[in-house]
Amino acid sequence: MPELPEVETFARYFAKHALQQRIARVDVRDERILADIRKETFAKKLKGCAFASVRRHGKHLFADAGATWLHLHFGMTGDLAYYRDAKSEPRFARIVFAFDNGAKLAFEDMRLFGLAELIASPDAFIDERGLGPDPLDPSFTFAKFEALLEKRRGAIKSLLMTQEIVAGMGNLYVDETLYQTSIHPRRAVDRLKQDERRAVFTSMRKILRDSIARQARDADLPPRYLYHHREVGARCPKCGGTINRAVVFGRTTYFCAKHQR
Ligand SMILES: [Zn+2]
Repeated sequence: MPELPEVETFARYFAKHALQQRIARVDVRDERILADIRKETFAKKLKGCAFASVRRHGKHLFADAGATWLHLHFGMTGDLAYYRDAKSEPRFARIVFAFDNGAKLAFEDMRLFGLAELIASPDAFIDERGLGPDPLDPSFTFAKFEALLEKRRGAIKSLLMTQEIVAGMGNLYVDETLYQTSIHPRRAVDRLKQDERRAVFTSMRKILRDSIARQARDADLPPRYLYHHREVGARCPKCGGTINRAVVFGRTTYFCAKHQR
């Protein structure tokens, strides 16, 4: 499932290949990928436009087409492919944007849990959904993070998974953040000391950046990451303790029973 670092990788890919090219044609191969818009309308509104820029917020990708914005969500199996040769078209291309220069951008999604739609603006979309800040947004400061945690109760893991607090932190990245900051996933947020809050803020951003730097290939993350030891009874590479499993916020959670307090 594409997590934030993968969506950032898609955003960079989109920006590198598919900007400033006039859209000659839009082929919606499977209308089920569209949310609340008919394929004829979708195609008509984008034809003749060019994508000017790309923006990501959490796991949402937005491309500015001038009068409208394209919003993509990658669901479980979403992906992008830019190609010239018809033979390179992905098997599960649901939408193909054909540019004047002969190149094409396909939005593929085998399982169809993703979506594409046209929206007025990303800011309005973020507002309507009540999404919290993107953890990597340069304007997201520790002071803002602290303000979001203020007066909140409940387990720190649940809070970090809540999209209204921070948008796009997935299960793996939350577990990794808490592992690296030695905080138990069930610790109550109002019991965290200020230096622990700061560590969570710094660590979650570093982990996302580490993953993005590897084009979201998390298998390439450093060996001391919990990512490589998500197994009951595994030995903690940090302290030699034992990795344990619990369900927090309805999600399978791995943590070290010894050093995470
Ligand atoms: Zn440990």
